[in-house]
Amino acid sequence: MEKNLLQVQDLTIRFNAGRKQRVRAVSNVSFKITRGETLGLVGESGCGKSTIARAIMQLPRPTSGRIIFNGEDLTQVSKKRLRQLRPRFQMVFQDSISSLNPRRNIIDTLTAPLNLIGKINYGEKRRLALEMMVSVGIDPRACHLRPFQFSGGQCQRIQIARALMADPELLICDEPVSSLDVSVQAQIINLLETLRKEHGLTMLFISHDLAVVKNVCDRVVVMYLGKLCEEASSEKLYRSHHHPYTRALLSAIPNLDTGLLPRVNIRAGDIPSPVDPPSGCRFRTRCPRAEKRCAQEEPVFHEIEPGHWVACHFPIL
Ligand code: SF4
Repeated sequence: MEKNLLQVQDLTIRFNAGRKQRVRAVSNVSFKITRGETLGLVGESGCGKSTIARAIMQLPRPTSGRIIFNGEDLTQVSKKRLRQLRPRFQMVFQDSISSLNPRRNIIDTLTAPLNLIGKINYGEKRRLALEMMVSVGIDPRACHLRPFQFSGGQCQRIQIARALMADPELLICDEPVSSLDVSVQAQIINLLETLRKEHGLTMLFISHDLAVVKNVCDRVVVMYLGKLCEEASSEKLYRSHHHPYTRALLSAIPNLDTGLLPRVNIRAGDIPSPVDPPSGCRFRTRCPRAEKRCAQEEPVFHEIEPGHWVACHFPIL
């Protein structure tokens, strides 16, 4: 059994944006997730987080790079093998209501993933689905209802239940709480944490909000405009981060204790386009620490101390 359940190696994703333009959504991104770990992937909207999640799911296959799941490169396996492997890595999407089929009732929604994993009779499928409804906090008597008859938080619980029906090893949660009220967010995060322990899951938790990730993840990777900026254990990242972008994200969170480091505010202006990213460091047009070298030379993602990686010429020390 592989120690790293997932390894993303040198992942690059480009797609056409019309008028002969190519969007460089993700460039040479590498990270790994060890078995049983929760990794946070954080950055502003449009930085490539969801594109990476979909590439791991092979929806579609990436432009280049390797996605190694339990020792097998998903970008190279046959369609048949991918179908066999798919139940073992599942995804929870941001918009819970639209990700559920409005015409399917909940029992059909939950039993559908079991069709992928071999022959199970309908009675057994139904029993497993009702059991799963209980474990995500939905009354099983509501199994004949359709998604529009539930609240956003309940739909997210149903979506999580659907993802777990095939008993996956890896759960990819793409902004699972960002469309929910703050009070419901905490409930869903607690539910995910409980289910992670019960099912022995490994998780990739994607969010634009470092405050949400803080209590969920063992390690955090911060992204900006398709590139990795910083990677560290949660404890290190919140206490002694080195990248100005990480610092700026944390500075923007009210009442977050981040130690004695000074605040860093992002310079005013829009996020540059991934069609034509800035030369050198992609963050330089918004970085308050930027110098001439930042425009000329792309910073290398390097290990600044054991287990702590950063891509910056002038890290905060
Ligand atoms: S390399 Fe330069 S522009 Fe980029 S984050 Fe570091 S200081 Fe800022």
